[in-house]
Amino acid sequence: MRDDQRQPVYDVILSGAGPVGLFLACELALAKCSVLVLEKAETPESPLKRMPFGLRGLNAPSIEALYRRGLLEEMEVPRRVKDPHAHPAQGARRQGGHFAGIPLLAGNIDAAQWPFRLPGATAVVMLAEMEELETVLARRAEALGVEVLRGLPITHLEQQEQLVTVCCEEQRFHGEWLVGCDGARSAVRKAGGFAFTGTEPEFTGYSVHVELADPEKLMPGRHITGRGMYLQSQPGYLILQDFDGGAFHHEGGEITLEHVQEVLRRISGIEVTVLALHLASTWTDRARQATTYRNGRVLLAGDAAHIHAPLGGQGLNLGLGDAMNLGWKLAATVHKSAPEGLLDSYQRERHPVGEKVLEWSRAQVAIMRPDPAASALYTIFRDLMATRDGATYVAGRLWGVTTHYDLGDDHPLVGHSVPNFAFVDGTTAGEAMRDGRGLLIDFDGRAALRALATEFGASLRYLAVPATEQLGLRAVLVRPDGVVAWATSVEPNEDPLKEAIARWLPRKDTV
Ligand SMILES: Cc1cc2nc3c(=O)[nH]c(=O)nc-3n(C[C@H](O)[C@H](O)[C@H](O)COP(=O)(O)OP(=O)(O)OC[C@H]3O[C@@H](n4cnc5c(N)ncnc54)[C@H](O)[C@@H]3O)c2cc1C
Repeated sequence: MRDDQRQPVYDVILSGAGPVGLFLACELALAKCSVLVLEKAETPESPLKRMPFGLRGLNAPSIEALYRRGLLEEMEVPRRVKDPHAHPAQGARRQGGHFAGIPLLAGNIDAAQWPFRLPGATAVVMLAEMEELETVLARRAEALGVEVLRGLPITHLEQQEQLVTVCCEEQRFHGEWLVGCDGARSAVRKAGGFAFTGTEPEFTGYSVHVELADPEKLMPGRHITGRGMYLQSQPGYLILQDFDGGAFHHEGGEITLEHVQEVLRRISGIEVTVLALHLASTWTDRARQATTYRNGRVLLAGDAAHIHAPLGGQGLNLGLGDAMNLGWKLAATVHKSAPEGLLDSYQRERHPVGEKVLEWSRAQVAIMRPDPAASALYTIFRDLMATRDGATYVAGRLWGVTTHYDLGDDHPLVGHSVPNFAFVDGTTAGEAMRDGRGLLIDFDGRAALRALATEFGASLRYLAVPATEQLGLRAVLVRPDGVVAWATSVEPNEDPLKEAIARWLPRKDTV
């Protein structure tokens, strides 16, 4: 941090202390950036962040990201892990998520189609409570020296050549960079001049906690009724989907007991009586994405960059993936050690992943509509998901197991998440990534690769250790976000390795 006319200038200011803002703050601080997080809410607490509405399904890339930074062990994992892939013996009919409400059954999945997932990999699905996740991230951020100021909504911003000035009503803050992590209605996105394009909603979704006079009339679980959808996770905790074109949500009307009862009766076709309304919020399937994730010194991540229906739980995963991808790249840019074009690769890699999630969300809405064509498509999808290839395809996307970047290399592992190799010394590849540096894994311990890594300097860690299962690989270069930048299954050729290091890693001795 430097001082300009007695005003501190942070390397990076983040708007929003939600999960994406906090995780990005940790990534930047780990890479030795000074970080200020400005948060609108006075306190982090909200009943919507607690069980059951605050439960979020984390997928493989998010779980790996938390594991690689030593954060997973701080969460109550054993109670909440759902890993049908890792424990198929626990029941072939065990559910590992859904597509448009169609259950994804573990027994139908052919994990052999994912040759780079090792048996010791972290789970592919885990339920996390938003409040717990944010608490764990906020604690880590504080330990790394991140400053979080609450009760300060960003209202506008100004970009100068070397600086961004952020205004929270009367107060002004200065940073070299600003990242908008301030959620679906992002003030940074609006003030920063980002175009946000996409499709309008088809339904209003409701999360409600009610007391019913006759709860036994409603079946537990998810029900697509031909008039919409209702899901009862626990007695009185309901999710509803009403195909009103998103009108109720956008008109911002008061969510009354009478309104909830009317929607519930109409969708379920059951004459239930609501005695009390304890909690209610609405959302829609509006699907929009910022056309670019960067405008000068201002960037976007998480819901600020993309919104869509929460069906199948993808938004938080997408946002944590943005943060993991952006943190080290922005830090290297701050430290003036980034290879040419590194920061631009954030947009190149993450925008297509976001586009695919929006498509995924629209496809689900299209087959859930209350009309005969959608219902016919729903039946066909259900049949396809009962096949091995169909279920494996859906699981690959839903669990993020097949998510990868096109980095333009011949080796099939490049652009994918590095397998969690178990080394013979008892450590794992994931554990070796806690300090956020790049990693050169040399299973055979060659003097030439060691010399190359040493010559490169502090931003590359060299590991010379065999693994119990090496998948036929001889050496692997891993970026700080856990993505494979180079790999070889034959005797390593140093030139392409040097090229990959120069292309991706911060220049030597600048970290
Ligand atoms: C019903 C429901 C179920 C869901 N289930 C899942 C799931 O299972 N899996 C999944 O991956 N995703 C799920 N999601 C989506 C997920 O909750 C979001 O994608 C995720 O919370 C986005 O995180 P974020 O940090 O980008 O934004 P947010 O969580 O919205 O955080 C943004 C933060 O910015 C703050 N802020 C807002 N405006 C300002 C301002 N002007 N200045 C400063 N701060 C500001 C807010 O107070 C907030 O703290 C679900 C969403 C809903 C609605």
